[in-house]
Amino acid sequence: MSENINDLMEKIVSLCKRRGFVFSAGEIYGGLSGSYSYGPYGVTLKNKIKKQWWDRFVSSRDEVYGLDGPIILPSRLWEASGHIGGFNDAMVDCKKCRKRWRADHLVVEATGQDLEGDLDALNKALLEIPCPACGAKKWSAARFFNMMFKTEMNGVDDSVYLRPETAGAIFAEFKNIVDVMRPKLPFGVAQIGKAFRNEIIVGNFIFRTREFEQMELEYFIDPEKDWQPIFSELLKEQENFFIDDLGINPEKIRQYEHPKEKLSHYSQKTIDLEYDMPFGGFKELCGLAHRGDFDLKQHSQFSNEKLEYFDVASNRRLTPHVLEPSFGLDRCFLVVLLSAYCEEKISEKETRVVLRLPVNLAPVTIAVFPLLKNKPELVAAARKVYENLRLNFSCEFDDNGNVGKRYRRQDEIGTPFCVTLDFDSLDDDSVTVRDRDTMTQERIKILELEKYFFERLKK
Ligand code: ATP
Repeated sequence: MSENINDLMEKIVSLCKRRGFVFSAGEIYGGLSGSYSYGPYGVTLKNKIKKQWWDRFVSSRDEVYGLDGPIILPSRLWEASGHIGGFNDAMVDCKKCRKRWRADHLVVEATGQDLEGDLDALNKALLEIPCPACGAKKWSAARFFNMMFKTEMNGVDDSVYLRPETAGAIFAEFKNIVDVMRPKLPFGVAQIGKAFRNEIIVGNFIFRTREFEQMELEYFIDPEKDWQPIFSELLKEQENFFIDDLGINPEKIRQYEHPKEKLSHYSQKTIDLEYDMPFGGFKELCGLAHRGDFDLKQHSQFSNEKLEYFDVASNRRLTPHVLEPSFGLDRCFLVVLLSAYCEEKISEKETRVVLRLPVNLAPVTIAVFPLLKNKPELVAAARKVYENLRLNFSCEFDDNGNVGKRYRRQDEIGTPFCVTLDFDSLDDDSVTVRDRDTMTQERIKILELEKYFFERLKK
């Protein structure tokens, strides 16, 4: 891990730009705060994280179904969910420097007290807190600000909203899924997609943005059965996802249980998994909430459609309760990079940067090089090896610069293996395979390469 943890974020941001993982979006137009584009390697890494999540929470489970709902849904749905009435953060302005802040974040950082949602208490606490930008203690009154993005839609009279979470579509399609799939309780519906929140302050790179991706599962359970074992199993799966699939060091993750008095009235229990970030310590990565029957009851009431479940075995009609594991994909992406980033001294003069990404996540699994790019017979032989390997693995062909530079580049991208064809390869039909982590090299017969990599890449 980097020696100086404080500049780790800066190093990650710089590597992301330099190597095409993440760019500040629209920089040619001056950019937009908290708006990012995932570049060629970033989008591949993101897709691989999504695949791991989908494999673990959907494909490998018989009782979980996928869904891909729209970003814009009927506004009545957001009334039912409470987002139009209550999805608010408290904002406050510094009267001296005019900078705007999220009031509860200022208070929590200065005093450790979580006063989210209590305007009176926030205003009182702010009297003692200086503006982090200019040091003045001259605050406007804190006031609530709705975080949903509003827009207009042809053919619809009222405003519509960009979804602030993916879960809404799942509840809206509950009846369709029950009618079509005839699931037995417990069962789940999962979705991955963009969500939009008009955050007062964005920052810490992709940790908090206004447009981000979520991976959510609504898990419907029998309200009369003990929910605790299922809650524990889902929580364990969330931890397994970070540790086994994303390669996160378990010591960097902790559970945070929301105190009873902070829980929503319908929730029996909420636990977040937090990661020890280089900025400000432990921060939320994902949550697991027991939401009771709040969502289905609200949507039944607002839609006039019965959202119930008939349990054939016990001849009961019931409203299932919901357990909701909810992940932020961009935060997963960030912790993957934070965990993988290493600087290693490899000689008196040279330090290499290497992303020790798990092999299942690395955007490129195998990079193939001809030793020299101006030798057509070498380039042709290397291309042939590349064309064969890419049938089974994520591969990249690279003939830019010298081999040393190519290794440095692939190390920074996190490529676990590099394959080099040299002049001997033309005679002995072998290549040099170089391991990212140990930097050891071994000669392998071209005919055995595929088998060799299948072995090495076994989980
Ligand atoms: P926070 O307290 O950090 O604002 P939250 O508790 O409001 O998060 P949830 O509503 O539980 O977040 O959303 C589920 C997940 O979505 C979070 O655990 C987080 O990973 C992700 N998420 C929420 N807001 C953002 C954001 N503005 N940018 C990036 N990811 C986000």
